[in-house]
Amino acid sequence: MNIILLGPPGAGKGTQARMLTENRGLVQLSTGDMLRAAVAAGTPVGKAADAVMKSGGLVGDEIVIGVISERLDQPDVKQGVIFDGFPRTLAQADALEKLLADKGIALDSVIEMSVDDEVVVARIAGRYTCAKCGEGYHDESKQPKTPGVCDKCGSTDFKRRADDNADAVKTRLLAYYRETSPLIGYYYAKGRLQSVDGLADIDEVERQISAILG
Ligand code: ADP
Repeated sequence: MNIILLGPPGAGKGTQARMLTENRGLVQLSTGDMLRAAVAAGTPVGKAADAVMKSGGLVGDEIVIGVISERLDQPDVKQGVIFDGFPRTLAQADALEKLLADKGIALDSVIEMSVDDEVVVARIAGRYTCAKCGEGYHDESKQPKTPGVCDKCGSTDFKRRADDNADAVKTRLLAYYRETSPLIGYYYAKGRLQSVDGLADIDEVERQISAILG
């Protein structure tokens, strides 16, 4: 099963992708994570992406499509994938159709996670993750059960993203509305789009996604 999770930054795509990985063995393909890894490793892709990511803008289509194309050649994608944060522009969506056709991969579902702006800004402003296992936390809504200790893996090391600050969040939202939101119409017109309520709590969103996927 191969699916796309669509929605603004902070909609909860990463959280649900991680749950789908645990529950269904799907592989999470987060272009944000791949690009952050490239930045950390100082590769040419990372060098090209670093400044624009920090500001909250979108990395160029060619770079991102190249990253995804290479990733789709890895054998583990046969388990099924969740596209998280890709495609983010119409050009990326067209490129993905072509890549999937060329590689013989079928797209089963495009799931829109709908939320509202005030909520995403508040979610992003307070969020952080375990540096070791990636479990997500939030200053207000989800602190670890034992303060300073990850519930999942026991690590005491946490991190916040460089672009989770007020200015970059505004730029990211603007990029979402200008570049990414047209994809909702694009997949709707193709008869592929289904929506879940991204404002519901994490388990309820998971149930709604499960009901769609069967
Ligand atoms: P968000 O929580 O904002 O959805 P991501 O981790 O998906 O965060 O992406 C972080 C940043 O990485 C984006 O703001 C953008 O600069 C870059 N990025 C990730 N995916 C893409 C993409 N498909 N196209 C262009 N830029 C991307």
